[in-house]
Amino acid sequence: EIRFEHVYKSYGKTEVVTDLNLTIQKGERLILLGPSGCGKSTTLRMIAGLEDVSSGAIYMDQQKVNHLPSGKRNVAMVFQNYALYPHMNVIDNITYGLRVQKVPADEIKRRTEAALDMLQLKEYKDRLPKDLSGGQRQRVALARAVVKQGDYFLLDEPLSNLDAQLRVSARKELVKIHEMYKQTLVYVTHDQVEAMTVADRIALMYKGKLQMVDTPDNVYHRPANIFTATFIGSPP
Ligand code: ATP
Ligand code: MG
Repeated sequence: EIRFEHVYKSYGKTEVVTDLNLTIQKGERLILLGPSGCGKSTTLRMIAGLEDVSSGAIYMDQQKVNHLPSGKRNVAMVFQNYALYPHMNVIDNITYGLRVQKVPADEIKRRTEAALDMLQLKEYKDRLPKDLSGGQRQRVALARAVVKQGDYFLLDEPLSNLDAQLRVSARKELVKIHEMYKQTLVYVTHDQVEAMTVADRIALMYKGKLQMVDTPDNVYHRPANIFTATFIGSPP
């Protein structure tokens, strides 16, 4: 479980997250949805411990984590720009974190093969990132996070670089991965369709404030306010 209590975040004088109160249940797929610049990545980075909160508190499994370093939070994160190590091939990119953590070699092999299979990366495993397409790189970034098997899986626009067809299949793969590992999944997107198809619950954000947190069905059919109805395209 992840709990935000009155969390605020400012950069200098600019407040980008305002009084965020939200509980993300253990094992659920929560989609953080909203237009560009509304504070989604900032919120995710606060969960990962890559940004400090300006005030308020974040709890993970009842433990206050405001000052817990990122490396101790048991999170696996896929970034919006999916930075891969340019000098390492696909396999090394995927396994690097596990080797640093001293995961046993046979366990690394088992997890990596499953991830390569799932994300259809087998034939690219010896390539360098520069010799992959954007979508293939994105899948490598996903695989790298999948093999970590942290309790919390944080994804920032993980499918933004894929074409429409791949997006649809990758969404299904992601849901499958989630059902296999049952991690607490926080998934950032500005794409309503993606949110509707992946989410257990959607948290809709606008200008740093939560507008509505509910099931896709309720967000669509019973929007809490005008912004929600307009953004989701609810029937009038
Ligand atoms: P997008 O969909 O475009 O990725 P987002 O919802 O992820 O947008 P954030 O990256 O969380 O938005 O940014 C929220 C606001 O905070 C934006 O106005 C952004 O310009 C600002 N911001 C983000 N990082 C910083 C920073 N390091 N310094 C100053 N302002 C920042
Ligand atoms: Mg972002």
